[in-house]
Amino acid sequence: MAEIVEGYDDIKIATVCSHSSLQIFHGARKEGFGTLGIAIGSPPRFYDAFPRGKPDEYIILDDYTGILDIADDLIEANAVLIPHGSFVEYLGAKNVLRLGVPMFGNRRVLEWESDRRKQREWLTSAGVRMPSIIDNPKSIDRPVLVKYDGAKGGRGFFIAKDEWDFKIGIDPTQNYMIQEYVMGTRYYLHYFYSPISIEGYRLSKGSLQLLSMDRRDETNIDEIYKLGSMEDLKRLGIFPSFVVTGNVPVVLRESLLPMVFEMGERTVERSIELFGGLIGPFCLETIVTDKLDFVVFEISARIVAGTNPFIGGSPYAELIEPDLSTGIRIAREIRNAKGAGRLAEIIS
Ligand code: ATP
Repeated sequence: MAEIVEGYDDIKIATVCSHSSLQIFHGARKEGFGTLGIAIGSPPRFYDAFPRGKPDEYIILDDYTGILDIADDLIEANAVLIPHGSFVEYLGAKNVLRLGVPMFGNRRVLEWESDRRKQREWLTSAGVRMPSIIDNPKSIDRPVLVKYDGAKGGRGFFIAKDEWDFKIGIDPTQNYMIQEYVMGTRYYLHYFYSPISIEGYRLSKGSLQLLSMDRRDETNIDEIYKLGSMEDLKRLGIFPSFVVTGNVPVVLRESLLPMVFEMGERTVERSIELFGGLIGPFCLETIVTDKLDFVVFEISARIVAGTNPFIGGSPYAELIEPDLSTGIRIAREIRNAKGAGRLAEIIS
């Protein structure tokens, strides 16, 4: 892939029109790249309302797996693909791994990130704390979240407080994990790791930035308390859900920032040992307890939609460079790597 991209005259930034693509195209344009949107059915009409975010041109497909058939066309167009959450979810991790088009970042991260157990192995072996796991439903003695394999966007979870709750809720035909429900406040930390930068917060190789933070709006869990106790609601057949509807900008008290960098650093250093390193944007999804400890319940190893409130910069990005967004940072990394003849280190 690196060889292909070295042969491009003029790199074009391409991604699927969804999730954070308006931000990605906006950042690419600001860094002087042409942009290519992959859309299903027809170009999203509402993109016309955002001229600084919409791509210069579109490729229209019938469905997402059609991307596998247009690899040659994408290469012909000098495309570098930017993966985002919807891109990977719609195409599937296995297809992303075999897609023959240069892609920003290290695809091997998918092997570690798309499986909840491997993700846990990576983060805990990095010394990052995660919610504890309860192996036997009989031992549920506090609130837990039961997560089915492949649950996405907070669907496919339920809360149980004891074995009885578990028994009523469980679908025994599916694989699941019982996880301690961590009490605290959620912070989604948006990092950017560059293996080629030598500025700022240095790691054993490259450097780490903190660009922004958000909290997700989740329906109906965020507001359900207004209707009374969970027990009362259960009797009416109303259960909590965690479906993401939007994102809210947040900042952390400054005294917690050293821990934020330490966790990010450990995650990156361990990824270098395990699979050659995750590259570019990633997000640690955390809960801060009342003891001021961080517990990480998930990692997303690419741009997350929680960066979208910061297309015009964030309180943290402002301290690095005015108006810096994750979208701009991705395009900048590609531009810097090209300038330094180091594209092979950031493309796979
Ligand atoms: P996605 O992959 O789309 O990010 P997902 O379906 O894998 O989502 P998570 O992000 O793991 O789900 O969790 C969804 C929501 O459930 C979180 O935003 C958080 O509110 C809550 N949650 C998850 N794990 C825990 C936990 N261990 N303790 C408390 N709350 C949790």
